[in-house]
Amino acid sequence: MTFEEGTTALVTGASSGIGEATARALRAQGIKVFAAARRIDRLEKLADETGCIPVQLDVRDRQGVVKFGESYAIDILINNAGLGRALGSMWEAEIEDIEMTVDTNVTSAIVMIKSVLPGMIERGRGHIVNMSSVVALYPLAAALYGATKGAIHKLSRDLRMELQGTGVRVTEINPGRVISEFYNVAIDDDEKLRQTVETNCEDLIADDIADAIVYCVSAPWRVNVSQMEILPTEQTYGGTQFVPFKKRNQ
Ligand code: NDP
Repeated sequence: MTFEEGTTALVTGASSGIGEATARALRAQGIKVFAAARRIDRLEKLADETGCIPVQLDVRDRQGVVKFGESYAIDILINNAGLGRALGSMWEAEIEDIEMTVDTNVTSAIVMIKSVLPGMIERGRGHIVNMSSVVALYPLAAALYGATKGAIHKLSRDLRMELQGTGVRVTEINPGRVISEFYNVAIDDDEKLRQTVETNCEDLIADDIADAIVYCVSAPWRVNVSQMEILPTEQTYGGTQFVPFKKRNQ
């Protein structure tokens, strides 16, 4: 499908990984793309390569986010910026890591939506694509991160209801493991990082998710892809586990 002349997207977290790949993919479709993140040097490089418009924006900066939303007519929001500190042991998490993870993944994502939605509703068209995760759908030993993505899952579902009759579409993307800087940002301990990323399996690449997003946003207006779960072929979820009580024989 070709997009309407002037179709404009905002991609958050466009300085690496899934966001960067999505900004590239949307530019390849001829869409005007605002590529937002904190690392402006990376965005400028991306702009040189793709013609996107670099925007230095911390998604936790409420004023900045609201101002951006009021200043530009955004048709497609790729609400992607996120991170997952304290993976696997939330009881050991620093308070600031808890606040940063919840604030970036949930509150900031909601404020981002709030900033672009009035314009979308006014124009009678728009598409919110929320970057969730399979951790929103299945139990995983990543309780803090899972809680934030669980919130995005519910947000996406409920927003569909709130937006009935407005013409604005909502999509939740639920990727499994994707090669990106996500784990480098999440895990400080080198050995734990190595054990986490070296699975001897073929992970998804960011382009796989970007391709799926292009499908969702380019589908005919009558089609709302509400949710898309995308896993590496070698990754599965489900089943039960039997784990002995560590103190039983002490
Ligand atoms: P990356 O670490 O490669 O990218 C994260 C992006 O988020 C960066 O561009 C970073 O930009 C941006 N970001 C983080 N905090 C802020 C902030 N405060 N303000 C603005 N931008 C911010 O990871 P991924 O590409 O893998 O992650 C993208 C999304 O996909 C996340 O929401 C993640 O939870 C989700 N996801 C990832 C999976 C994976 O296995 N990799 C699986 C499922 C979901 P900068 O630092 O320059 O600001």
